[in-house]
Amino acid sequence: MKVDYLIVGQGIAGTMFSYQLLQQGCKIAVIDTLNPASASRVASGLINPVTGKRHVKTWMADELIPTAVNIYTQMERELNLSFLEPVSILNFHSSAEAQHSFNERIGTNSFVHHYDSKQEGFNYEHGIGEINGCLLINLHALLHAWSEKLQQSGLLLQEPFDIQDCAITTNYITYKNIEADKIIFCDGAAATRNPYFNYLPFRLNKGEAVIARIPGLSPQSIYKRNLKIAPWQDDTFWIGASFEWAYEHVNSTTAFTERVQEELKHWLKLPYEMITHMAAERPSTIDYKPFIGLHPQYASVGIFNGMGTKGCSLGPYFAREFALHLTNGSSITKDVDISRFYTMQAPA
Ligand SMILES: Cc1cc2nc3c(=O)[nH]c(=O)nc-3n(C[C@H](O)[C@H](O)[C@H](O)COP(=O)(O)OP(=O)(O)OC[C@H]3O[C@@H](n4cnc5c(N)ncnc54)[C@H](O)[C@@H]3O)c2cc1C
Repeated sequence: MKVDYLIVGQGIAGTMFSYQLLQQGCKIAVIDTLNPASASRVASGLINPVTGKRHVKTWMADELIPTAVNIYTQMERELNLSFLEPVSILNFHSSAEAQHSFNERIGTNSFVHHYDSKQEGFNYEHGIGEINGCLLINLHALLHAWSEKLQQSGLLLQEPFDIQDCAITTNYITYKNIEADKIIFCDGAAATRNPYFNYLPFRLNKGEAVIARIPGLSPQSIYKRNLKIAPWQDDTFWIGASFEWAYEHVNSTTAFTERVQEELKHWLKLPYEMITHMAAERPSTIDYKPFIGLHPQYASVGIFNGMGTKGCSLGPYFAREFALHLTNGSSITKDVDISRFYTMQAPA
């Protein structure tokens, strides 16, 4: 089998990137084990235009969000599937100071507002603020539909990729019976074990979430206090997440379920039932910007990674940018181009 690009990984990064290469008329093959404990399959799927305690606009929000809407909407049409929902976050202030600080932001951007209605399902004493302009991606539906589509077209190999089976030259690569002009790694946290890119300064962190049934809670909003409750599949909700820089293993822990129970005991009035518990590593980077580009010595090897906490918003925009770079030579945004680390490059 001869292709232009062999893509390793079909999380949100590999999904967006393979879609863009197909849009450009390229021949591709994708390899993934479809690991349920990968970041994209554990994430809530939120795109939030504001960030941090001060609720400032996120980096490149004006470019990233409209592009994400366009690309996801186009994919919805092609896949005949609805997976993108506009949504607002109800931000339950955890203290008088937090309420004051939120209220000070009102009017500084178009996303942060007062919220005056009552939320009977919750206990709260410091009021609620509303963040609108958010989007919720049903990642489970999108990734599943995309893997089905690739599979039907004979473009997906559902198996582990082993770098030992890959012969890499500067002009092309071969992997088992596949010959490709380039191999592009969209392998998330596994990139830290990739001999071609483990020199890049990743800063992985671990996140846990639980899935619960909460009868009586409206799925029209995302509810946020110290944790976030977001609509998930069918009648369930996603509750998370932890954010840990230091951890002994990447599995889920009872410490996290205890944290959820403790938080909900004080906040949620409605009964709930926990169904599943998930954990994954986020492929974060030292400067919080993606890692995109070709290896400095091997032009046949590339990376599309480092989406950190924001794969849903960064993925569509930068997948298109990288695909256009590869197919017609247009430039990559400097902040995300791995050439910023060329001096750190280790021999592969
Ligand atoms: C708890 C939690 C909550 C989050 N919430 C959000 C959110 O609300 N919004 C948001 O935008 N982001 C969120 N994120 C971050 C988001 O999940 C990541 O930015 C994004 O998923 C990274 O996507 P990726 O495709 O680069 O990596 P991954 O999702 O990890 O995908 C990598 C893929 O590569 C495959 N792979 C790796 N190595 C191999 C191999 N050797 N052989 C075969 N296959 C391989 C894996 O199976 C996997 O499918 C969250 C993350 C976590 C952990």
